[in-house]
Amino acid sequence: MRKTHLIVLWLILLFAATCSFAQDTLLFVIRVDDILSRNISLQPRSITPFQQTVEAVGAKVSWSVIPHRLQEAENNDGQLRAELAATVQQGHEVAQHGYMHICTLCGQYHEFYCTTYQQAFTYEQQSAWISTGRQILQDSVGITPISFVPPSHVADRTTYNALVDQGFNLISTSGYNLSELREGLFNIPPGRDYTWELTSEQYNARKQEALAEIESVLSEQGIYTLLFHDPFIRQGYENGLVLQWTAELLDSLVSIYGTRLKFVTLSQARDMLLNNSTQLAHRQKLILKSFELSQNFPNPFNGQTRIHYYLGQAARNVSVRFFDANGRLIEAINLGQHLAGNYWLPWNPVNLASGFYGYIFEVRFNDGRVARKSKFCTILKQSVYEKNIVYSVNF
Ligand SMILES: [Zn+2]
Ligand SMILES: [Zn+2]
Repeated sequence: MRKTHLIVLWLILLFAATCSFAQDTLLFVIRVDDILSRNISLQPRSITPFQQTVEAVGAKVSWSVIPHRLQEAENNDGQLRAELAATVQQGHEVAQHGYMHICTLCGQYHEFYCTTYQQAFTYEQQSAWISTGRQILQDSVGITPISFVPPSHVADRTTYNALVDQGFNLISTSGYNLSELREGLFNIPPGRDYTWELTSEQYNARKQEALAEIESVLSEQGIYTLLFHDPFIRQGYENGLVLQWTAELLDSLVSIYGTRLKFVTLSQARDMLLNNSTQLAHRQKLILKSFELSQNFPNPFNGQTRIHYYLGQAARNVSVRFFDANGRLIEAINLGQHLAGNYWLPWNPVNLASGFYGYIFEVRFNDGRVARKSKFCTILKQSVYEKNIVYSVNF
């Protein structure tokens, strides 16, 4: 084995592998759920004080609105409808939060799948709730929502299909990483809610926890969605505790990240992540998270080895190419379509001498994005592995 051969192979694998960059733009979303909450005791109902609080640093709010609530008695005066129409004009977003936010089977707050009785709703039922809710938002706020927040973060595959069929391209739900839940439906998951029933005793601890989580998620994913719930954002709640907490948190974030931090709505975040070439590095990070390639086992090997890999989302094609130490292609295997999941490939090369080899996996996801990852491996024809030397190199 000549050293130059190994360098040639290493360079081939290195250029084939996906790169990412350190100084990216970081995206920050603020999502406020349950406009208008059914758990109401506070006045005023106005969303304006919270909006003005985040506007002080140029931030945007994505209001997660329960459509049916806009037609109920609390909103007869039309004030909330008028405020929502105005907030959209000012660059904030109105997302659709289910339809009634009540389960028709058990009366709990989930809506699109009954977790109490483990019972699914039909496509027709779910479609009707989605379209009726969307119509209410069109009539009373004057917008057609494209972002959807499932009540209690409960939804099933039927929900995703109905949403895509009705023109939604974004969902914000927990339980999944940043990903496409199905083709055309991108998920931007929320972080924790730090201000649910916030008290002055927890005030500072919650702020430190939030800053720590935000820093960790931003460094890993390049985007963070801070979650709030009506009615705690209201001016009357604990004398404006949440408004003050939010202002201080946002000031801290601006002083930590400066202009790297971009405040966006849910749908702006989706567009930047999927379409804007300056966000390429973020997309690459998503791809890296959605595709993992393990070192083949055993390694070194004599005869057969297995290569395990993981796909976080469906791919239209997976292929693998094997190279020798001179960078010559020795075998190419097309593995075809894959659903998300764990896989392994047996590799049983014949007539290959002992030495270093490399393999590159290429994954073409359903939306056209491509991810490549590579590993070295070693074929050792001797029956005894001398001194237990492991020749594999990971990068
Ligand atoms: Zn239920
Ligand atoms: Zn909710």
